[in-house]
Order: sequence, then structure tokens, then C-alpha cells
Amino acid sequence: MAKKYGMVIDLKRCIGCHTCAVACKLENNVPMGMFWNRVLTREASSIDLPQGNYPNLSREYLPVACQHCENAPCVKVCPVGATYKDPEGRVLINYERCIGCRYCMTACPYNARVFNWQEPVRIPAHDYGSAGVPQRKRGIVEKCSFCEQLVNAGGEPFCVTCCPARARKFGDLNDPDSEVARLIRERHGERLLEDRGTKPQVYYLR
Ligand code: SF4
Ligand code: SF4
Ligand code: SF4
Repeated sequence: MAKKYGMVIDLKRCIGCHTCAVACKLENNVPMGMFWNRVLTREASSIDLPQGNYPNLSREYLPVACQHCENAPCVKVCPVGATYKDPEGRVLINYERCIGCRYCMTACPYNARVFNWQEPVRIPAHDYGSAGVPQRKRGIVEKCSFCEQLVNAGGEPFCVTCCPARARKFGDLNDPDSEVARLIRERHGERLLEDRGTKPQVYYLR
């Protein structure tokens, strides 16, 4: 059976450190002001603030990037085939084909995509990130690729490598013996906005 890549994020382990968000920016050379991977704070009025009223306060984080949906609305609306599902279940973008119409951004219920309104600015102003990641330019959309450049070389997404709490796991959802499949099975992995029918390939453990 073909592989179907997916991710599991253990919310019980996540400490909201934002390391995954920063690691993603570094590896993928994501421009200033843009994030492919964001760490949201649940039920709070602002990022990193607690929920509830003193003294009954709590804080819960929700890291969100592209969910690599099995039934991806962004793929369906792309008029030029720039957004596509690859044979290993990833939703990817051919940046050369993208015409910047942003239909995909409207279609995505997870707010996972970002648009280059200006010529991308990267600081420090020297090259960083993986040379295997295609450069993007003004007027096109970009997003998480599950670090395809690393995974294709036998590695794992950089957010998984860098998470200090080991809250993130990556693997083949079609392999019942993989760690991701086992965690989803044993801990009843949940997906975001199940009612939309998008069938995300990112699962959350509570
Ligand atoms: S790096 Fe790990 S612990 Fe830190 S915010 Fe991301 S998922 Fe949570
Ligand atoms: S999360 Fe959004 S961008 Fe990613 S596959 Fe699903 S609909 Fe497309
Ligand atoms: S912005 Fe690019 S990837 Fe998105 S729908 Fe338009 S052409 Fe496709």
C-alpha cells in the first residue's frame, strides 16, 4: 500500500514554546511576518494569555499548520493545478504554476496558507534554511510541505526534530505498526473541524 504521511501532536505534552514555529521558519526560509506553523492559545483573548478568571486560570496550546487534508478543498479550487495531492498523501504547491489568485486561501478552513504581498524579506539577510526548498516570490501563496525536502531524504519534518517536549510525531498513517498509527488508535486521535469533511492527516491527542 502507498504511504500516507501524517502527523500526531500530543497536546498533553505541548508546552507552547513556539520552537516548532521558529524551526519551521528557519528550515523553510519563511519570510518575515509569515508563519507556516503557528502555536495558538486556546480560548484566550490574546496569544500566550491564560483562559478563565483568577484564580481559576489555565492555558492550553494548539499548534496549527497545513493539515494535509485527504479531501483537500484547496486542491479542488486551484484553477491551474498548482496545489496538488502527491502520491504519498501530502498537499503540495508547485510555486512555478501558482498565479496568486488566493482561491485556496479562501477554501482552507484552517487558515494554513500565507500570501506574499511583497517581495519576501528574510532577516538575517543571508541565506538560511534548506537549499532544497524552492524560493517563493511576490504574488504567490505558500504553506507547510511536511518538510518534503527532509522527508524525501529519509528524515522527518524539522518541527518534529526540534520539539523539546517530543509532542510531535510523523510517519505513515497507512502502516498500522507506525508510531503515528499506534498513537491515533490507542489515544483516540482527534482532527480539527471534522464536520467539514476535509479529513485532515494531522491528529491531536488530548
Ligand atoms: S515545539 Fe513542541 S512543545 Fe513547543 S509549541 Fe511546538 S509542539 Fe508545543
Ligand atoms: S489545511 Fe488548508 S491548505 Fe492544508 S490541505 Fe487542508 S485545506 Fe489545504
Ligand atoms: S493562489 Fe496559487 S495555489 Fe492557490 S488556488 Fe490560486 S493558483 Fe492555486
